[in-house]
Order: sequence, then C-alpha cells, then structure tokens
Amino acid sequence: MNIAIDGPVASGKGAVTKGLSIRLGIPALDTGAAYRAVTLFLLDHEIDIYDEKLILMNLNRMDLRIYMAENHDVRVFTQGQDVTPRIRDNRVSLAVPVVAAYAGVRDYVNHAIAEVASQGNFILEGRDIGTVVLPNAEYKFFLTASLEVRAKRRKADLDAKGENLSLLEVMQQVKARDEQDINRTVAPLRQAPDAIYVDSSNLTLEQTIDTLAKYIKL
Ligand code: C5P
Repeated sequence: MNIAIDGPVASGKGAVTKGLSIRLGIPALDTGAAYRAVTLFLLDHEIDIYDEKLILMNLNRMDLRIYMAENHDVRVFTQGQDVTPRIRDNRVSLAVPVVAAYAGVRDYVNHAIAEVASQGNFILEGRDIGTVVLPNAEYKFFLTASLEVRAKRRKADLDAKGENLSLLEVMQQVKARDEQDINRTVAPLRQAPDAIYVDSSNLTLEQTIDTLAKYIKL
C-alpha cells in the first residue's frame, strides 16, 4: 500500500507524514529532501542554478542517494557525503524551486526515489506524488493551510535554526516558492482529482494526523 501526501511549503507535510508513518508502521519518504540535496550540491560547487545545461551535465557526478533512517527520518547523500544537516538552510529553500523545475532534474530525482520506493510500501510526500510519481497510490492527500499559518510555522523553524527573518519576509518567501511550484510546466504542484483535501490551519499536529489516519484501512 502506498500513500501520497502533497502540499505547499510549510503545510505540515513533513511532521504529519512522520507521525502517520510511526502510527501506521509504514516508512515515509520526504521527496523534497532529494531536490534539496541536488540544490545544495549546485550551491556548494558554485554552479549557476539558472544554467540548466550546466546543471544537467553535473547530475551524473552527484551520486544522489536516499536512505531511510531507523527513526523514520530520511538521509540524503551526494558524492558519499551525508548532507542532510544542511539541506534545510534557507538559501537552499530559496533556490530549490528553480532547480526542481527542470525536467532533467526531476527525472534524475524520480529515478533515485523509485529505487527506494521499489523496496516496499511507503508514505511519500512532496509536490507531485499523487499526480506524477504514484498516480495509482491507494490513498492520496492534499495537505494545506492558510498562507499566514504556513508562514508562522516556517518562521518558527527558521528561528529555531538561528535564521531570524521578519514574518512579512517569510510570508513573501513562502508565497514566492508556492508560485514557482504551482506555475512550472513540468509536474506542477496541484491537487490530484482523487486526493482528499485537508486544511490544517485550525488543527494541531495530532488532529491533522488523526484526520488522515481515519481514512486509511490497513
Ligand atoms: O517539501 P520541501 O519544502 O522540502 O521541498 C523542497 C522543494 O522541492 C519544493 O519547494 C519543490 O520546489 C521541490 N519539490 C518538488 N517535488 C517534490 C518535492 C519537492 O518539486 N515531489
């Protein structure tokens, strides 16, 4: 059984997916981590994120690998190095929608995801899971929340990392990232017609997990 969870920036997908994964005993895979690892590699190697040709030429030497950790977390490696601790830096968050819009990058990442996902049942979360990656998933959810709530969540994450931005700045960044994910030509962020829509604006994390879990028959 596969479960697809899609949604915009800071919709709570990560925390909800992890909670659901622990509750159901099904491993979870955060596909955004793979796009973040590719983006971090480009930034680290000073490869222009707007130079699609150069990026595609560099994909082969990245050696992107995704591993599931015991504690339901995903770990991502490039060139044999665990880069997971740095993939959520704000500079990566701002650049990743540009990189994730390239068809060649999406093919490369989807290949790495497919390799892991072929090993069993998974809860996959991302932007195009229900529409592109797992169109036949048994359960599909589209998780969202209001822009204000999502910006507040994102700001709390950034504050905890010592990256202090104003709420207005964070709100603008979240809005810009959403627009990039929604308006790209390849695999844009959108709700699959058969996905269950969940708005977590007024729900706690536990309540959101409960809402999704109610639909799933093991
Ligand atoms: O979910 P997260 O914010 O970590 O994802 C980072 C970025 O990766 C998203 O903003 C989006 O541009 C891209 N992404 C994607 N398709 C996915 C997962 C993530 O394009 N399935």
